[in-house]
Amino acid sequence: MKNLRIARWTVEYDPEVTRSLYAKIPIGRAEACCGSCRNFASAREQAYSPYIRSLLETLDIDLRKEEDVIHHPDPPDPLHHYEGLFWFAGRITSGRDGYEETGKRGWKPDFEKVDERTNLGITLGPFRRAPKSQGTPWLLLVIETKVPWVSEEEEHW
Ligand SMILES: [Zn+2]
Repeated sequence: MKNLRIARWTVEYDPEVTRSLYAKIPIGRAEACCGSCRNFASAREQAYSPYIRSLLETLDIDLRKEEDVIHHPDPPDPLHHYEGLFWFAGRITSGRDGYEETGKRGWKPDFEKVDERTNLGITLGPFRRAPKSQGTPWLLLVIETKVPWVSEEEEHW
């Protein structure tokens, strides 16, 4: 395990285990879902800031292979708000979880702004099923970002 500081979190992470997870994933969730997600897939190259790209590289996360994509229902400004969710092998050694529990099965994001268009959260992923662990703990990296509508399909949100 290596140590890394990411916004308010310090994590121990294992890039080799993460790499082997991504090697087994054939395709990102964005391609496999709906029109909103396909737009995100088409805009992926511009979705992440230089900071996020280097963070994903350090953790050995393949940015084309999200666990999930969330398209926020807010009207575009004119960019569309999305979240990309990625698993990586590791554990939080300091910093409160990226989701705050708000009562019965309720969770509220408690993210950090890391640059002009990006908020991120690191979480145990309380509402997500972690990959089969084989003794490795997993964390979910949630990246909130904005992209234009680049898809041929009709723009919607
Ligand atoms: Zn979708």
